[in-house]
Amino acid sequence: MKKFLSTALLVMMVLMVGCGRSEPIRYERSEKIMGTVVTLKATGDESQAAVDESFDRVNALVDEIMNDMKRLEAADAGEYVSVGDDVFTMLELSQRYAERTDGAFDVTVGAALDMWRAARQNKTLPTDDELESVKGLVGYEHLHLRASDNSVMVDVKGVKINLGGVAKGYAADLAHEIFIEHGIADGLIDFGTSTIYAIGKKRIGIKNPRGTGMTDVVELRDGALSTSGDYERYFEIDGKRYHHIIEPKTCMPIDNGIASVSVVVDGDVEYCATVADILSTSVFVLGVERAAALLPQTDYKLVNVVELNDD
Ligand code: ADP
Ligand code: MG
Repeated sequence: MKKFLSTALLVMMVLMVGCGRSEPIRYERSEKIMGTVVTLKATGDESQAAVDESFDRVNALVDEIMNDMKRLEAADAGEYVSVGDDVFTMLELSQRYAERTDGAFDVTVGAALDMWRAARQNKTLPTDDELESVKGLVGYEHLHLRASDNSVMVDVKGVKINLGGVAKGYAADLAHEIFIEHGIADGLIDFGTSTIYAIGKKRIGIKNPRGTGMTDVVELRDGALSTSGDYERYFEIDGKRYHHIIEPKTCMPIDNGIASVSVVVDGDVEYCATVADILSTSVFVLGVERAAALLPQTDYKLVNVVELNDD
């Protein structure tokens, strides 16, 4: 029986190749999106549809974010602006974790990120005055969500939302949903420097934040792995490193001796990749001990932390 089945399978495969079947069994595609190389791989009868539809969905998400953020920035203080379902969901999840992390994860860091981007371009540190005024524009309590009509408001003009710590994870969740709809049981949704969602069992290397190669290899099975590090986007002034993850209370780049944090969230958790994306940034900001005190260990697994020696 077994032999018959394997012979049948072989014949089927030969036939499929012979007929020039348009859908390959294994399919993969890469594209640069949200500042990272996104690679989607799927094996299954509908692999190409799963991958192509996912890219369309993720590109539509990028458009929705840009459009909604633009309208939100143009609005007055106190004015509610209706946003798309995806943006609203990302903001809801972000606010939930802002509360759980005592404000360590905070999507209102936009103004601080802009200030640090300017510092990087001008190669000068922000002045104390600049830092003080930006502090008034950062804080998740300034962001208000109204679920009855999917609308959003900031209560101080100039508060700016930045979804860089959550959007890649959310996009990975969207792709995952499409993969499942297409019956994909073996696939990889890889948002490069941020979040990887494995369907089936995969071995994933974690990049060494200093030097080359891998610092660890993690076995991921039907779940998401997220890494946050100080090495992707940074600059130096007077030999000191300034990177893209901000301590919302001080509006300074985090300087707590952590170079990289990786977390795994199980696929059973709702919005698993989004949560993983949020939590890697959160643990990076909080440090391992505060994170352990604030966040229930049932939600996630800390799989790798690289701490720097004092130097
Ligand atoms: P990556 O972009 O590689 O996935 P992270 O997931 O750690 O890295 O997200 C970092 C990004 O999140 C920053 O580039 C910025 O857009 C945003 N960000 C920075 N600090 C915070 C913070 N404290 N809370 C939420 N988002 C942040
Ligand atoms: Mg991320």
